[in-house]
Amino acid sequence: MKRVALLGATGSIGTQALEVIHAHPGLELCAAASGSRPVEGLAPLTQTGGDLTELLERAEPDVVLNAIVGFAGLPATLWTLERGIDLALANKESLVAAGDLALAARERGGGRILPVDSEHSAAFQCLDGAEPGSVHSLVLTASGGPFRHRDLHELESVTPSEALAHPTWRMGPKITIDSATLMNKGLEVIEAHFLFGLPYDRIEVVVHPSSVVHALVRFRDGAALAHVGHPDMRVPISYALTYPERAATPVPPLDLASGLILEFSAPDEGAFPCLALARAAGEAGGTAPCVLNAANEVAVEAFLAGELPFTGIPEVVERTLSAVGTPPAAGLDELVERDAEARRVAGALTREVVH
Ligand code: MG
Repeated sequence: MKRVALLGATGSIGTQALEVIHAHPGLELCAAASGSRPVEGLAPLTQTGGDLTELLERAEPDVVLNAIVGFAGLPATLWTLERGIDLALANKESLVAAGDLALAARERGGGRILPVDSEHSAAFQCLDGAEPGSVHSLVLTASGGPFRHRDLHELESVTPSEALAHPTWRMGPKITIDSATLMNKGLEVIEAHFLFGLPYDRIEVVVHPSSVVHALVRFRDGAALAHVGHPDMRVPISYALTYPERAATPVPPLDLASGLILEFSAPDEGAFPCLALARAAGEAGGTAPCVLNAANEVAVEAFLAGELPFTGIPEVVERTLSAVGTPPAAGLDELVERDAEARRVAGALTREVVH
């Protein structure tokens, strides 16, 4: 029996994870937590808000599924990796904002990171058993979001409800807006860099509107392996929780005979500057990805509240990155300080962009 601690139990990943756990006799939910919504009765140990590492300490899990949204997910990631416990990771910020710290914690603890993000789970599966030297590069696919064919000018007036209507994936509001700006793909490039140890120039992004191919790995012999399937998060969640078993899920097989067409194209980096901003922050290293992430969280929240235009999101992120210093952080405390400073600056810039 594998004991699962589920953090972020009431969100989109959390509720799908509950479905996977309840359907699998080998998985036992030992603890459940959420940031703000009540979770009493979901598991033997529950907690809403506060320091989730206290809950983990009592729960003694075999695997922690971290599906907390945002920077708040960091302490649980570091706690899990320091102890050598398997981390099923659905919290992007853990690797984006704290990639260096997370990898150092994993090195000390000796545990595994099992990615839950669909693209990274796909790449992880394609890489299974591959000799590291045989890998040429990684290709992450992006649906392109709801505004795929719009130019920068047309994007100025889009509303939160238009941005929340994602064409292929059903997800929480923060990640749905990030998908519409392509920041989500930018964060995933940084995440992939840390997860797979690949330099940024060997992580490619292509637009693939139907979201059937989740990632491809190119090998040095010219072959590429692709991971294909319905866009359904229960697959990567189940894969991470039951690894290496690959348990059954209710997700149906792809119907290839009905005429499946796979389309790919280059992303429009002019209309969607967040992708290049994220890549540049990743390449700059230090705390630049942490600052990028903090500024983006503030800007997305302001956009959802109707206080910032859609095109103000990359503007706030870019200006915050030039205003805040980004030297490496020695530990979580320093990272928390940098995150807070970036949020203050981004908040002030948000008010400036509007007025
Ligand atoms: Mg993803």
